Amino acid sequence: MRNSNSRSEVTPNPYEMAVAQFNSVSDRLGLDEGMRRLLSMPKREITANFPVRMDDGSTQVFTGYRVQHNLARGPAKGGIRYHPTVTLDDMRALAMLMTWKTAVADIPYGGAKGGVIVDPKALTDRELENLTRRYATEISILIGLEGDIPAPDMGTDDRIMAWIMDTVSMHRGYSVPGVVTGKPISVGGTAGRMEATGRGLLYIVQEATAYRGLSGDGLTVAIQGFGNVGAVAARLLHRASYKVVAVTDVSGGVYNNRGLNPDALLQHKRPAGQLLGAPFGDSLTNEELLALPVDILIPAAVGGQIIARNASTIRAKIIVEGANGPTSPEADAILEDNGIFVVPDILANAGGVIVSYFEWVQDLQSFFWEEDEVNERLHRVITRAFRDVVHMAERDRCSLRQSALLLGIRRVVEAIGVRGIYP
Ligand code: GLU
Repeated sequence: MRNSNSRSEVTPNPYEMAVAQFNSVSDRLGLDEGMRRLLSMPKREITANFPVRMDDGSTQVFTGYRVQHNLARGPAKGGIRYHPTVTLDDMRALAMLMTWKTAVADIPYGGAKGGVIVDPKALTDRELENLTRRYATEISILIGLEGDIPAPDMGTDDRIMAWIMDTVSMHRGYSVPGVVTGKPISVGGTAGRMEATGRGLLYIVQEATAYRGLSGDGLTVAIQGFGNVGAVAARLLHRASYKVVAVTDVSGGVYNNRGLNPDALLQHKRPAGQLLGAPFGDSLTNEELLALPVDILIPAAVGGQIIARNASTIRAKIIVEGANGPTSPEADAILEDNGIFVVPDILANAGGVIVSYFEWVQDLQSFFWEEDEVNERLHRVITRAFRDVVHMAERDRCSLRQSALLLGIRRVVEAIGVRGIYP
């Protein structure tokens, strides 16, 4: 993937992108200067440079961040990313997106994001655990059950969440399962969390296709990214009779207009480590995937992939943003001109944080639900959010991105307003 490893000049700065999106609706909301300044900046941020003992006896210094954007509606919530391209501006942008995302879903949280500049695949298990426990300790002055609750994001998983939960619990002297979500079920995780973002995408695809009058089996789907979001979405869509015709990961991928079997692709990817070369169709690049004439395109990889340079090549009818920040504001304008129906990230991929909320609620109550109940509640919350956003887009004659931002930002502004300014 062209922009995955280094930020080239064609990839926009993610924080500037997020602020530009915020500004694009703040006029419409009539926000005063003070509110604009408040919401375009994070509330708090930590940068920590910390040592980690490596297996060969050496010490390596890593840099990690935790950024809280806003806490007016509840504890800060958002994932932790381990990736070589992590920057403080990424974290600021993604924390802001989390504030809008939790508000659009109407769950009682603010927004945060954290990350470490590291390629987790280059570390041994022990090194990864050492790094995680030390990073958790560095950010422990911010995170906590009632103040800021991390979760998995790119490059992190349930195992890493268990180490964070254990580290915080060791410091406190008792178990604090609700300090992170996306944990293994054995230590207070919830049924359905692993699949939640992909499942939320399925529900959104079902709503969006129905709304746009696309129906019937065999609607075609192309998915960029084959990690926890893309691969799960591919499997669930396949099972729901959508035809997944193309998938890529960072290496490129495979295209077959008769449809692909995501389980077979996963079986190929596990030992091979990459999708490119999977013997189920023609090879294709990420740029080629974006340009396929499909019904639904799901970007579910790193951000900044749909940009001014390639937006006009896109021929999908609907884009459902599984990734955070996949589309630049310039590209967004091109997609809108071309009549492409875009379901924005803060709505489309909210399934993860919605089920994180259910996990936290279960941890607080020490009372756990069946998976059916989790999925049913997810369906209820995410389809209601979709319908709220569509309703507002129709009323205000604007894109879904604009109306999702309007809805989310309005809810945050309202909370700030009723709370007032201290002191
Ligand atoms: N990392 C996911 C996101 O970007 C989930 C965050 C969470 O569950 O707190 O939405």
